[in-house]
Amino acid sequence: MANDNFSSLSISPAQIANLESLGYKKMTPIQAQSLPHVLKGKDLIAKAKTGSGKTAAFGIGLLNNINPRFFGVQALVICPTRELADQVGKELRRLARFTQNIKLVLLCGGKPLGPQIGSLEHGAHIVVGTPGRLQDHLRKGTLVLEGLKTLVLDEADRMLDMGFSDVMDDIIAYTPERRQTLLFSATYPDTIEKMSRSIQRKPVSVTVEAEHSSSVIEQLFYEVKKHERNNSLLGLFEHYQPDNAIVFCHTKIQCDEVADFLRGHQIDALAIHGDLDQRERDQVLVRFANNSCAVLVATDVAARGLDIKSLKAVINYELPRDPEIYTHRIGRTGRAGEKGIALSLFTQSEQFRVNAIGDYQKKPSICDVPESLDRLSSYTLHAPMVTIQLDSGRKNKLRPGDILGALTGEAGLSGSQIGKIDIFDMSSYVALESSAVRQALNYLAQGKVKGRSIRARKIK
Ligand code: AMP
Repeated sequence: MANDNFSSLSISPAQIANLESLGYKKMTPIQAQSLPHVLKGKDLIAKAKTGSGKTAAFGIGLLNNINPRFFGVQALVICPTRELADQVGKELRRLARFTQNIKLVLLCGGKPLGPQIGSLEHGAHIVVGTPGRLQDHLRKGTLVLEGLKTLVLDEADRMLDMGFSDVMDDIIAYTPERRQTLLFSATYPDTIEKMSRSIQRKPVSVTVEAEHSSSVIEQLFYEVKKHERNNSLLGLFEHYQPDNAIVFCHTKIQCDEVADFLRGHQIDALAIHGDLDQRERDQVLVRFANNSCAVLVATDVAARGLDIKSLKAVINYELPRDPEIYTHRIGRTGRAGEKGIALSLFTQSEQFRVNAIGDYQKKPSICDVPESLDRLSSYTLHAPMVTIQLDSGRKNKLRPGDILGALTGEAGLSGSQIGKIDIFDMSSYVALESSAVRQALNYLAQGKVKGRSIRARKIK
């Protein structure tokens, strides 16, 4: 059993103190197994999922390799989606707090190139980004990787699934041969092993089981007729009455239709899928995470990397073909010792998927019929919070404390009426109890935040 104290690692006392301040008392299994090798400069192939602490498993390693006095990109993390890149960027910034001088730049698609080029010109030590946009910058010569020491491929299997194989090869061709390559993947298909062989040098291989134990996630499978799916979905909500939920669908059209259907039945739901532009995706994710939308209807790709602290239910409107995807979906609930439920609808012709999940989990899948559910015809599900958007953000040097200060100061709100505050480059989002929205908007219509007038509106 590897030692799971951070102090057993050869990292600086300042980093150990920082980890303590983040509340990381012990290493997670993936960290305990990976970090000793990563810190020795070895290549690593790790089978680990979001939620396992994998970001710190590579983050602590790559930060240890950075020389802040050399203004070149020394670490590159490639992620499949913007949401994951965003999350990885945030975690790396927290891990980098032990030193003042490390600069991280996010390079994701859906954002203008100009400001990204500007940030790169100012010097970046770490770049986190999505494949297409990284390739754009490399081709333009605005991103230079000659001094790269650490390359990380995060959720590599997902990047291959999304068709990024050639783009990744192209990006890797811009990196020096002498580099450390850390490859993280939730699954190990042949394509991943082939990729590892072509880009890694004698990698140490590490596997950890998912963090959640299935015992805290109650799983039930409901057999439905094809045309009854919507009605049965409603039945699941009425019977289980979760405070919030993610509903997984296969297609974008299905996501929109199911979200419309739920809204038509007094359930606050929003769809998220690849057709939304970046601003719309940000807004949907912010509203779900800050409790102003109760149900997210998502495709697997759109929900990738989503990390909601307290998710009550995962509902599979349709079962995925691959039991691993099922396991990954339901792993989002039942976090941190909380109880979660995973409910799945399937038709007779999809019975084999239920069986495959049972085989994969090495325990029988428990099936039921929707007719056994107690229905509550007066059921509604409305999120407790409302989001307001401010037309000012990080670029205006706005911080959460400024907003909190203005709203609890002159605007007269109490702290308990204000929820999560999310700051983006050009705008910010504030979750408010619905009873406080009018008061907040009235104040913002005339009053100031940090000495400036700011426009605010409620998001519907
Ligand atoms: P990840 O799998 O990297 O997405 O991490 C999942 C969550 O675990 C993140 O919210 C991290 O901040 C948190 N985390 C990572 N390492 C530790 C640790 N050693 N102790 C406690 N929390 C951790």
